[in-house]
Amino acid sequence: MIVASPKSIPELKEIIQSHQKVLLVGCGTCVTVCLAGGEREVSIMAYALRMARKLASNPVRIEQITIERQCENEFIKDLTAAVDRNEAVVSFACGAGVQALAERFPNKPVYAGLNTQFLGILEEQAVWTEKCMACGDCLLHKFGGICPVTRCAKRMLNGPCGGSQEDHCEVDPDRPCAWQLIYKRLGAIGQLDRMEDIVPPKDWRNAWHAGARKVVRKEHRT
Ligand code: SF4
Ligand code: SF4
Repeated sequence: MIVASPKSIPELKEIIQSHQKVLLVGCGTCVTVCLAGGEREVSIMAYALRMARKLASNPVRIEQITIERQCENEFIKDLTAAVDRNEAVVSFACGAGVQALAERFPNKPVYAGLNTQFLGILEEQAVWTEKCMACGDCLLHKFGGICPVTRCAKRMLNGPCGGSQEDHCEVDPDRPCAWQLIYKRLGAIGQLDRMEDIVPPKDWRNAWHAGARKVVRKEHRT
């Protein structure tokens, strides 16, 4: 899922300081699961912003709504009336959701309420870790399902670098060495011989370096 974290109250207060009527929009999918931009977090932020503005003698009227997904027009259209009633919108979705609202409502300021972080998983309670950089050409089958592009600090496709200490990365000793994990995993699934394969340089043309990407699935278009 997409993992995000909330912007601070002072930062958001500054972002909306010139507006008197503001709509906060939560998203019911990834950012709800990572406790950043769901209905509960939006309610807390609405209360905090109202208080902060009141204390600053600059009261604000805040309305809040959470829709199922901000990255789909099907759900965004339900916001039209509320957007019309307000001067500005703060989206508590990932960066894609924020931009989807900005495109749908071109004459309304739309601000990001979250900092979008990465694609990751819930590791333990309230701890998420990055697992994928969406490189566009997945190589996980070569590495026992562990991604060195994301999890090796040097992005090595032919590791390890030789600097790990006690199974931890020399760049960040708090992190396990990705190549140690790959080695153990390949051993566990009977594919240790893959360690001897030389992986050619990655073709980055499918990655983000060439600009924003697009996926068209012709078989699903009518
Ligand atoms: S190889 Fe690319 S697509 Fe696959 S997990 Fe790693 S970053 Fe993500
Ligand atoms: S110690 Fe391991 S994870 Fe860290 S840079 Fe070297 S190979 Fe990559």
